[in-house]
Amino acid sequence: MNEPQPIRPRPVLSQLPAYAAGKPAAPVEGLTPYKLSSNENPYGPVPAVRAVLERFTDICRYPDPLSTALRERLGEHLQISPQDIVTGAGSLGALTQIVTTYAGTHPDGTQDEVIYAWRSFEAYPIVVRSAGARDIQVPLTADFRHDLDAMAAAITERTRVIIVCTPNNPTGPALTGAEVEAFLTKVPQDVLVILDEAYTEFITQPDAVDALEVYRRHPNVAVLRTFSKAHGLANLRVGYSVSHPHVTQYLRVLATPFAVSSVAEQAAIASLDHIDEVNERVAKVVSERERVLTGLADLGWDVPDSQGNLVWLPLGDRTPEFLEAAGRQALAVRGFGTEGVRVTIGEEEANTRFLQLCADFPEGPTPAA
Ligand SMILES: *Cc1c(COP(=O)(O)O)cnc(C)c1O
Repeated sequence: MNEPQPIRPRPVLSQLPAYAAGKPAAPVEGLTPYKLSSNENPYGPVPAVRAVLERFTDICRYPDPLSTALRERLGEHLQISPQDIVTGAGSLGALTQIVTTYAGTHPDGTQDEVIYAWRSFEAYPIVVRSAGARDIQVPLTADFRHDLDAMAAAITERTRVIIVCTPNNPTGPALTGAEVEAFLTKVPQDVLVILDEAYTEFITQPDAVDALEVYRRHPNVAVLRTFSKAHGLANLRVGYSVSHPHVTQYLRVLATPFAVSSVAEQAAIASLDHIDEVNERVAKVVSERERVLTGLADLGWDVPDSQGNLVWLPLGDRTPEFLEAAGRQALAVRGFGTEGVRVTIGEEEANTRFLQLCADFPEGPTPAA
C-alpha cells in the first residue's frame, strides 16, 4: 500500500475536546468494584423493561421514525401536546438536533454564538463546535452555580442559543423558577433558551425551576429530558426535547432518521407505565444523596448542594491525588483536571466506602477565603 495521503478533516476537528467517558473501577483484591463515574442509576430499570427486552421480536424492522407511541404516552404523562415532543438518541441526540438547527457558520464565515455555563456538561463544547458555532463559556459563580447575570451580559447580536443546565452536571445545584424567569426577561425573543433537565427527577428543592412550566409561558424555551438517568435506560439511548411548533417543525427536518429504536421506545413506555417503581428507585438515590451530603458536611468538607444523583468535590490541585485514593478503594469516580471530582451516588455500600475514603483523605475542600 502507498503512503496514505492525508485526507483533511474539517478544521473544527482540532478544536474539539475528547469526550472522556466514565471508566469502570480497576479491580482491587477483596473489594467489590463500583462505577461512580457516569451518573448511572445503580438500581437499573424497572422489571417491566426487562420483560420488554425479552419479548421484543422486530429486530429486522426499522422503528417508527417519529416515536409516535412514546410521544403520545409522554404527552399524557407530562400533560403537554405530543406535537411539542421530538425524540432523539438520548437527550444528547435531542440537544444536537437543536444546536445544529439554530447555530453554525454563515457563508461569509461569521459564526453564530452559543452561550453556556462552565464548568457544565462536557458534551456542550463538542456539540456546539462541531455544528460550526462559537461557544461562549461563562464561568460558574464561586458557589458552583450558573452566573445568570453574566450569561445575560454575554448575549450579542450573534447569540442564537443559550444552554442552561439545571441541576448542573457536574456541580449539582439547581436554579430556582424565579432566577430563570428573571433571566428570560433579559433574553431577546429570537434567542432559543434550552433548559437541560437530565436530572429533574432527583430534585427535592421546593423552589427549583419547573422547566415545563417555563416552556408553557415562553415561546423561545426548549426543555431536554432523558430516560438515561432516573429511568436507568442509559444504554438504550432515548431522550427528547419539548418546545413549541415553530421550533419542532425544524427539529424534525434535521433529526437523524430512526435514531430511537423500537425496543428503546417500548422500554421507555414500560418505564412510564411503572412510574411508581421508578419513583421508589429515585427516592432511594435521593435519600443516599442526602446521607452523603450530610456525611461530607460532618467531615467539614465544603461542597455545593446537589439536586442531582451526584456530588461535586472542589479539590483543586488535589484532584489527581483523590482519584488515586479512590482507585485504591475500587471506586471509579470522575476527575476534571485540577478542578475537582464528580462522584455519582451509587449503591449503599459504594456510598459508605466513598464517605470512609473522604474521612481518610488528608484534607477536604474548605470554604473559599
Ligand atoms: C447525562 C446527561 C445528558 C444526556 O444523556 P443522554 O444519555 O444522552 O440522554 C444530558 N445532559 C446532561 C447535563 C447530562 O448529565
